[in-house]
Amino acid sequence: MMRVAARLKRVPTTNNGTNVAQNAFKNSTRRYLNTHSMTQYNDSDEVQQIRQSVRSICADFPGEYWRELDKVEEYPTDFVKAMTESGFLGILIPEEYGGSGLGLKEATVVLEEIHRAGCNAGAAHAQMYIMGSILHSGTTDQQTRFLPKIASGELRLQAFGVTEPNSGTDTLSLQTKATQNADGDWLINGSKMWTSRAEHSDLMLVLARTGDGSEPRGKQLTTFLVDMRDQPGLEIKPVKTMMNHSSTAVFLENVVAKKEDIIGGIGGGFKTVLKGMNAERVLIASECIGDGRYFIDKATEYASEREVFGRPIGQNQGIQFPIAQAYCELEAAALMVNLAAEKFDRGEDIGAEANISKHLAAEASFKCGDECIQTFGGFGFAREYDIERKFRETRLYRVAPISTNLVLSYVGEKILKMPRSY
Ligand SMILES: Cc1cc2nc3c(=O)[nH]c(=O)nc-3n(C[C@H](O)[C@H](O)[C@H](O)COP(=O)(O)OP(=O)(O)OC[C@H]3O[C@@H](n4cnc5c(N)ncnc54)[C@H](O)[C@@H]3O)c2cc1C
Repeated sequence: MMRVAARLKRVPTTNNGTNVAQNAFKNSTRRYLNTHSMTQYNDSDEVQQIRQSVRSICADFPGEYWRELDKVEEYPTDFVKAMTESGFLGILIPEEYGGSGLGLKEATVVLEEIHRAGCNAGAAHAQMYIMGSILHSGTTDQQTRFLPKIASGELRLQAFGVTEPNSGTDTLSLQTKATQNADGDWLINGSKMWTSRAEHSDLMLVLARTGDGSEPRGKQLTTFLVDMRDQPGLEIKPVKTMMNHSSTAVFLENVVAKKEDIIGGIGGGFKTVLKGMNAERVLIASECIGDGRYFIDKATEYASEREVFGRPIGQNQGIQFPIAQAYCELEAAALMVNLAAEKFDRGEDIGAEANISKHLAAEASFKCGDECIQTFGGFGFAREYDIERKFRETRLYRVAPISTNLVLSYVGEKILKMPRSY
């Protein structure tokens, strides 16, 4: 128990020094009792403590907080500050660079618990994983310059510019171009679409075209770590979406990337980005698992309390079975997420597990949300119950960061070896 407390930046305490996590867990026990989570059977003490600590932070950010932000479409600054100060966003950064040095398994637990508590990690999760590019493909100089500041929150690396107005799924066709100036630095021109959190980030990882077209397709792109501060040629425009996700379109006109800030070498951009995608998919999947557990908690509680025709609606199998079915699918997805994270932490390839877990978890959370709304009847649509908000939020994950069709095509072609479609 002590080990994780020491490794995380701060485990909050009350005025009399007792662990807030334990108090908050006691207070919130009822909220978490309804759903039995089978995947927690092998939770270590460390993982249990992380769960409790995240729950205690999230207890300060109840539904009203998210509802209000959703209404005015604003960024959850206080929540992100609390998560940053807790050290959880630096959980994957090695201790030598000021992070917690924990694994993907622990990181999935953090995101799952945030979502299970009714919060939304979308505002901050990228701080956890974009830095993975520096970790696996950066030079020692880049790691030393950036990782400690990212771990402390002094630098926010939350923006990831891959998608463009005319290239989403087909990444290799992106058009943003980088050319070298006389000093050897790079000038980037083009536009990015759906760059989440660009207004709340100091750095942005940008994938741009550097090849002249003569290289193999996969070697024409380069990844740049761009300092977004003081860039006159950078314009960020918010894009309104069905959920509060800080989505933007980014326009780049002679935006400067320093020659020493190429991650993964010239022409190595696609490979660099691909390397980080498996971890990202597993982390997003864990958010879906958290959403699913939130919906099952809410649905089972309501089904047991709401009386129609003089008896609880959950007594009717027409209400009970769909919730049970959604729960079964959620648990199966959670097992796959667990497996993917554990294999990743052992250094094994998780292409199949990452894709399958992301797909199953996104489908399961959507189903849990749909059945939750059905259980609540009309009240499922009322803003004050938060279910419609969570439903809108979890819907995203069937499209981003990779859409269902593309996962299925990975499974069909890469795993099952059927003919390629593209
Ligand atoms: C809220 C939000 C936040 C996002 N954040 C980011 C971010 O921070 N950074 C970033 O770079 N991107 C981000 N994205 C972009 C996201 O990754 C893309 O939307 C996603 O990859 C799909 O690309 P697309 O929207 O261009 O769809 P398209 O590529 O236009 O595809 C449209 C549809 O056609 C399907 N399709 C395409 N080709 C095939 C095929 N061969 N077979 C079968 N089906 C096919 C797709 O699956 C999809 O359903 C975000 C998107 C959203 C909505």
